[in-house]
Amino acid sequence: MNGLLNIFSYHRRVRNLVTGIVIARCPPQKGIMDAPFERGINKAAGNEGDPVKLAVERTNTFWNRLIFLYSTPSVKGASRIEKSFLESDQRYYFLPCPDCGHQQHLIWERIEYADKGTDRADPESGVYYICEKCDRPISENQKPKMLRAGEWKPTVQPLDKRHAGFHLNRLYSPWVSWVDIALDFEASRKDPQQHQVFVNATLGLPYEVVAGEQLEWQKLEARGRSANYKKGFVPNGALLLTAGVDVQGDRLECSIWG
Ligand SMILES: [Zn+2]
Repeated sequence: MNGLLNIFSYHRRVRNLVTGIVIARCPPQKGIMDAPFERGINKAAGNEGDPVKLAVERTNTFWNRLIFLYSTPSVKGASRIEKSFLESDQRYYFLPCPDCGHQQHLIWERIEYADKGTDRADPESGVYYICEKCDRPISENQKPKMLRAGEWKPTVQPLDKRHAGFHLNRLYSPWVSWVDIALDFEASRKDPQQHQVFVNATLGLPYEVVAGEQLEWQKLEARGRSANYKKGFVPNGALLLTAGVDVQGDRLECSIWG
């Protein structure tokens, strides 16, 4: 067992069905609940190889195997579930527009309300989904009927025809209103870490770090580099030196802080 990740397999024979479940999970860290799943997977790989591949290999002896991978994605380009989804037939749940009947899958960009994305934003005055075909607003009270009439459709040809991928975001949820989602967006949009939670958990999309957007450690590093400090010299004003040593597989990494 790893502190960040627990992996175990469970096999049980029920009549003629053999079920194998691999569960990978780790505790939430720093308010981002979903991203550590993928980070935990990477960290747990260690010397034993890719834990996802290992888990899949354990199913090799079952001729009728069915493998499920599911997660919210983390960072664009580094997300395992994104990679797997992009290799699949990329299915979305298409809903018919109540006005023109055009089938479409719900995306955040088609959500509209007063002054969206500005400091004057007012989702509580009304949130609508704008049909991509007829441009008419769809109100949320039409969602249950649309959900009942929806259907999953693949959008690309996968490399492997057996690989089906399904994407769903919270705009479809019967339990979360578009108003609440819009309020979440407005509350999080200025903070990169909170915005990542919104993108990952609410939109079910990988988060893309845009140019100019920096995390706290990056700002601190930039501040250190821009200061006129000379390597190997203790600057004036330092009262106490502290050393820390990190033990790596082939070396010791020592740092000194003033
Ligand atoms: Zn329409």
